[in-house]
Amino acid sequence: MSEDRKLSLRSKGSKSDVRLTAGLYLVATPIGNARDITLRALDILASVDKIYAEDTRVSAKLLAIHALSRPLHSYREHNAQTADLKILEELGRGLSIALISDAGSPLISDPGQSLVESAGDNGFKVFPIPGPSAAVAALTASGLPATQFFFAGFLPPKENERRRAIRELAAIPSTLIFYEAPSRLLETLKDLQAILGDRQSVIARELTKLHEEILRRPLAALIAEYEQRAQVRGEIVILVAPPAGENTTAADEDEIDQMLLRYLQTHPVKEAAAIVAAEMGLPRRTVYARALVLKKSNES
Ligand code: SAM
Repeated sequence: MSEDRKLSLRSKGSKSDVRLTAGLYLVATPIGNARDITLRALDILASVDKIYAEDTRVSAKLLAIHALSRPLHSYREHNAQTADLKILEELGRGLSIALISDAGSPLISDPGQSLVESAGDNGFKVFPIPGPSAAVAALTASGLPATQFFFAGFLPPKENERRRAIRELAAIPSTLIFYEAPSRLLETLKDLQAILGDRQSVIARELTKLHEEILRRPLAALIAEYEQRAQVRGEIVILVAPPAGENTTAADEDEIDQMLLRYLQTHPVKEAAAIVAAEMGLPRRTVYARALVLKKSNES
């Protein structure tokens, strides 16, 4: 009988008597709806020697819902260094260890990177047990191009750093995906619009939960929508369409000219062109050529 088959025969609430291969199991858990957990994830969580979790209170609730009962220990960013050493020692003793986060896939904007790196470096087996992640769930429902996407995680909270980070992403020819806290949603949307232009975008809020909301609008319309609301709550993914590339419209061209003229007042032509190219997601040489024309006609 295969290990998978034997695992699925476990009885509820008891530790499975199947001995798992020693190693680190990275188990994805639900992002809201507790039933979004795979059969294999349940089997693994019933069978491992220990589970390490970001917030043990949060994970204890999930384990209770699924009638699972295994020793639960804390693994957070701030105790990662000591926890890594302890887990490596446990893996060395042949234990099977699961790492889970509060929601979704471990390591995706969640702790665990140093542990997976050192487990691999030390020759221990690392098993991904795939399942939900808010970024992928949001992307699939967004209607934005999903063949290429760039997951940027959380943007920096400080305005200067956030704007710089967005500028660096402007030319990427892919759907951009961000995680964001509700308290910062509006300021982030405004920075995205100022730098990327009025691209099509999507807010995926409270996915798989009671108040799930998926809004697909250009950034300016999303800003207007959320400005009307007294308060925005819940967990949020922001998705932004790829840049229009070389197919700029007349309105885009006008905007590019305005931006260039503004930056040309304070920057040399090359720098002004580089900034505008990054912000509009356009090839530098195209913008540089336009900047030279504008500079010349301004001088004459
Ligand atoms: N590891 C998780 C994953 O795989 O998606 C992400 C953890 S990160 C600390 C938490 C962020 O993920 C939230 O602030 C929010 O941006 C996003 N998120 C998590 N659950 C979500 C949900 N149900 N709906 C929308 N966004 C969610």
